[in-house]
Amino acid sequence: MTQIYKKEFKCALCGNLSTHEAIISTNTLGWPDLDTRPSEMARSTINAWIQMCPSCGFCAPDISEEVAKAAKVVQGNVYREQLENPDYPKLANSFLCWSLIQEISEQFSDAGWASVHAAWACDDRGSIKSGQLCRMRAAHLFLRAREKGQKFAKGVGTEEALILTDILRRADRFEEALTICEEALTKGADENVKKLLEHEKTLIEEQDTSVANQSTILFAKVFQKMEEKGIKKKVFTRKELNALIKESENDSK
Ligand SMILES: [Zn+2]
Repeated sequence: MTQIYKKEFKCALCGNLSTHEAIISTNTLGWPDLDTRPSEMARSTINAWIQMCPSCGFCAPDISEEVAKAAKVVQGNVYREQLENPDYPKLANSFLCWSLIQEISEQFSDAGWASVHAAWACDDRGSIKSGQLCRMRAAHLFLRAREKGQKFAKGVGTEEALILTDILRRADRFEEALTICEEALTKGADENVKKLLEHEKTLIEEQDTSVANQSTILFAKVFQKMEEKGIKKKVFTRKELNALIKESENDSK
């Protein structure tokens, strides 16, 4: 269950006090999207991942913490324009402003992730075009991170390639996505990542920019199993679902 509480934070830049949501705990049920976006309930806590000081406009995951170079970036024109940019949902602007602060400090991985989060905020509001712009920015920052040898995913390089492939595909940049995807497939990824990369490749070839879920491949098999068994039920407990998945997986062995 998600537990959120409201707390007062003192802005590290201007000293203003404002109230923001903080997450005590959350959980996920189901598979993340291919760009790692978590499923519910963690998915809906996105509002609490970033704070904006209503007085000076400083945006950060915790505005009470000092961040190097933030004071200068926050006063700059690029930042001020982003903060009020009417083409993006307000939440996306906050993430993008935080991304600008991280970029100046050459924290390209964090800057990239902040842009990915901005894209998710755009997805939630149905802002397709601005979501794509956020993904283009994220791809640029992740590529910079790679150049600088900064990791942006926990696993091996192929997982980074998967994230990058998905972001580029969803940003309508199919050619670059395909290059990175094919390169990663030759690098001996583990079986699961390989399956997901192959799935990405199909989506790229179909020029599909829609959201893909790590469960997509699995569910295709599960639905087939349900049809075979004549199951009409639409809502399953995790236990029932796991049993069906196991059966479907055994079939394909
Ligand atoms: Zn402030």
